[in-house]
Amino acid sequence: MTYEYCKRNTLRSGHNHTISVDADDDAQRHIFDSVLMKRLVISFSGGRTSGYMTKRILDEWSEIYDDIVVLFANTGCEHEKTLDFVKACDDNFGFNTVWLEAVVNPEQGKGIRHKVVTFETASRNGEPYFALTAKEGIPNVSRPNCSSRLKNYPIRSYVRDFLGHKKHDYDQCYGIRVDEIDRMSEAALAIGVKYPLVGWGIRKEHVLHWWDKQNFDLDLPEHMGNCVTCFKKSDRKLLTIAKHHPEYFEPFQRIEQENGMAGTLAAKEGKQVFFRKHRSVSDIIASSKQPFREWFPGIEEMRQQGLFTDEELDVSNGCVESCEVDFI
Ligand code: SF4
Repeated sequence: MTYEYCKRNTLRSGHNHTISVDADDDAQRHIFDSVLMKRLVISFSGGRTSGYMTKRILDEWSEIYDDIVVLFANTGCEHEKTLDFVKACDDNFGFNTVWLEAVVNPEQGKGIRHKVVTFETASRNGEPYFALTAKEGIPNVSRPNCSSRLKNYPIRSYVRDFLGHKKHDYDQCYGIRVDEIDRMSEAALAIGVKYPLVGWGIRKEHVLHWWDKQNFDLDLPEHMGNCVTCFKKSDRKLLTIAKHHPEYFEPFQRIEQENGMAGTLAAKEGKQVFFRKHRSVSDIIASSKQPFREWFPGIEEMRQQGLFTDEELDVSNGCVESCEVDFI
C-alpha cells in the first residue's frame, strides 16, 4: 500500500514525491513515521489566545507539517462556556480537537494515562481533579502539580499510545504572546519548542481584535478562564468570582473536604487547602463578603500603565489566561 500525500491527521509523505510504505509492515511503517513525518502537536487551552494561534497554524503551516494534531485536556473544573468555545472552534474552524482527560490509577507507583472524551461526555464536576487529589492531595502554589498531572501527562500518554510518537519526535507550540514574553522558557527553546505568537508579534489586543471580527467568541470574561477557581489566580479574581458565583467553588470545596488529608504532604503537615496563605475555599468565600474592589476587564492594562496601583489583591502565580501545558 502507498501512503499518499493528504491532509492533516493522516499519514502522508508531505513532499513532492510519493513514498511506498507497506502498511502491514511494522518496520517500514516505523521508518516512515520516525524519519519522514514532520509532526506538530498543539495543546489548545480553550482560551482566545490559544484558539487564535491554533487557527493561524492550521491555516498557515499545513504545508510545513504532515500531521498537525490539536489536543484539549479537560480537568472537569473548566467553565461550561470554555467547553462551548472548544466545540465552536471545532464546528467553525475544523480544529478536529481530540478531547482528553487524565485517568488516575489510585495505586501508588502507577502513572497517569488518558482517555478520549467528547464535548458531550467531558467531565463537568471536577472528576479528573477529584481523582488526582484523592491520590496525591491538594495542589497549591507551593506544589502546583495539577497542570502537569491533568494536562501534560494525559497529552503525553495520548501522543505516545495513540499517535505512536516518541518524546521529542514532534514539534510543539506554546501560546505565549509578546506581552507575556517573560513566560517563555529557556529549556523549551533549547529543545526547539516554538512560540509562534512571539514570532508573529502578537499582543493581547491583536487577539481580541481578531476575535471581534469572527462570528463567535469565547463568551466568558478573562477572570473565569481555565479552571474557574484556579488557586494561581489573583485574589481579586477569586474574590470577584466568589462574590457573584460562590457555586463555582463547589468542586474545590468538595475536594478540600474529602481529599484534604490525602497525599504525603498532608500526612506530614495536616489538612491541606488550595489557596495562598493557607486559605480554604470557605476563607475565600468569607473574604468575598467584605468590601474590596472587584476585578474588571482592562485592569491589567491599567496596572501596566501605572493607572492602577492597588497591587496586593493582584498577586497571581502565572495563570493569567492560559494554564500553559509543558509537555516537554
Ligand atoms: S488552571 Fe490552575 S487549577 Fe487548573 S490545572 Fe491549571 S494550574 Fe491547576
